[in-house]
Amino acid sequence: MSEAVTVLRRGGLVAVPTETVYGLGADASNELAVRRIFAAKGRPLSHPLIVHLADVQAAKAWGRELPTTFDTLARIFWPGPLTLVVHRSALATDAVTGGQPTVALRVPDHPLTLELLHAFRGGIAAPSANRFGKVSPTTAEHVRQELGTDVDLILDGGPCAVGVESTIVDLTHPEPRILRPGGVSREDLVRVLGRPVRLAHEASDVRAPGMLESHYAPRAGVLLVERAALYDEAQKRVAEGKRVAVLAPATARVPVKVHRAEVPEDAEGFARELYASLRSLDAEGFDLVIAALPDEKGLGLAVRDRLLKAAAPRG
Ligand code: AMP
Ligand code: MG
Repeated sequence: MSEAVTVLRRGGLVAVPTETVYGLGADASNELAVRRIFAAKGRPLSHPLIVHLADVQAAKAWGRELPTTFDTLARIFWPGPLTLVVHRSALATDAVTGGQPTVALRVPDHPLTLELLHAFRGGIAAPSANRFGKVSPTTAEHVRQELGTDVDLILDGGPCAVGVESTIVDLTHPEPRILRPGGVSREDLVRVLGRPVRLAHEASDVRAPGMLESHYAPRAGVLLVERAALYDEAQKRVAEGKRVAVLAPATARVPVKVHRAEVPEDAEGFARELYASLRSLDAEGFDLVIAALPDEKGLGLAVRDRLLKAAAPRG
């Protein structure tokens, strides 16, 4: 832990466990350190990073003109898988925000990283600890395999409990809206705010970076079909000579000769295991992963979003 603080203070990169996915962290106040994150990931400089903080009080210093919805959501969901986008204070530099006048803030719910944040006494800027556009890591081993020596230190906090990224809510407009569905469900946001909460693309004008492009993509191709079509589609692709795996719960019908990567029936379980499943299918050398989209309830909305982007045409 003290080593992690030392690495952050000298401008190094520390991979940190969170309840969502592993992050690639740097001192958010050190522009050179933040630039190292972009270099390690191969991430375009215009894609802003989330600043992770120890508590609500620390987060407030990074924003200004905070609406009352900020307090309401922060009080209920932090520490937790919710990121709030607000107008930035002078603490947030262009390196962190991609030059935007807003900043994304979160208090993550993981004991090791909360301990690190308290010991470090600053913000940790961290995107997911993977190469840009690829599958996010949910174990320390995933980070080791993917980033190797490009990261100075990896804190191993075990497998991530949520398994998909945080829900990002933009609070800079009169209507809060979801820029990215994630670990906090839309239903929970609606319940707490007492009003409808739209997804940004439903609200038309704003688009979170990466909303339509390929992202979260394994090496294998990803094909999405109706659940009722899983069986026939798998058979057809196998007949074409492809190495096919089906990502499906135990109750879905899959041809006997086709590999089933079993995922839990419930959306929370699917979310928790999604990325690790995609990674192991890549390691086993499958060419094509066929999956059915879960419905939009609860974490199903986030799982759908990740699968749709994983299946998007590769650039
Ligand atoms: P990652 O979890 O690696 O995808 O990185 C953090 C996510 O937060 C990215 O999808 C960013 O687009 C998003 N993000 C960070 N800051 C902002 C901001 N100020 N406005 C909108 N989205 C943001
Ligand atoms: Mg990412």
